[in-house]
Amino acid sequence: MNLEDSLGDILRKARTSTHTSPEAAAAAAGLSVDAYAEFERTGTPPSGTQFGPLGDLLTLNGPRLEAQSRGWRPQPVDLSQWQRLEVITTAGEDMTVNAFLIWDPVSRQAALFDTGFTAGPIQERIQAEGLRFEYLFITHSHYDHVMALGELRRLNPAVRVRSGSTQVPVEQRLVPDSQFEVGSLKVTHRPTPGHAVDGVTYRITGWAGGAPPVVVVGDALFAGSIGGARDQLPLARDRVWGEIFVQPDATLVCPGHGPLTTVGQEKANNPWFL
Ligand SMILES: [Zn+2]
Repeated sequence: MNLEDSLGDILRKARTSTHTSPEAAAAAAGLSVDAYAEFERTGTPPSGTQFGPLGDLLTLNGPRLEAQSRGWRPQPVDLSQWQRLEVITTAGEDMTVNAFLIWDPVSRQAALFDTGFTAGPIQERIQAEGLRFEYLFITHSHYDHVMALGELRRLNPAVRVRSGSTQVPVEQRLVPDSQFEVGSLKVTHRPTPGHAVDGVTYRITGWAGGAPPVVVVGDALFAGSIGGARDQLPLARDRVWGEIFVQPDATLVCPGHGPLTTVGQEKANNPWFL
């Protein structure tokens, strides 16, 4: 799976958040305005791009940008370590989005994180595995993450929905410090606003065999990037540091888009963090 953001996406997001003109970014990068515009459009750096000064201007980590241009990708993850965790990726018009299904293999109790675009592939797994679908946790209420919510609730009337939104019925709202049990798995949650005002990161522990914790982060963090945060960029970064990067390095990171990664790999390689 490709990274969610190309280098061009990262530069454009950072330029928007820092209110930097294309001309200033081009000058810092040592490029003509046209060459810089082409870089943002294609994600391919023209030869001679000065990543250090460009990163400094845009509050990005220049050497990490350069590493991505040379092909940095997170190490592929062997999901069989987590009993059980499945990624269900569905496609909308111009993007794909990840939902995550977890269950206790003994009790068959299950929870879903986000819905993606379509209920079908999720419902199929629930039925094929004979799961008791108990909780549906929402990372944030952007449409791509909740598109199949109505359909899944219709098919599973007993499922309990939880989200960080203040716009949902009161019984669906997450209560600070509450935790949930899905068989032997435990789910806790922390607010991670920035990309979305109701952004939540869920942490799942209690895996059989002592597998590392899992964090389902929505668009707060991607492998090699972050979800666009515009004027909330300082808050978005602060919450990633305070809630996600404090987890052990081996913690599996499940983002709303793009490949899975780990806390350790993102701390060492993500260009949004210095
Ligand atoms: Zn999204």
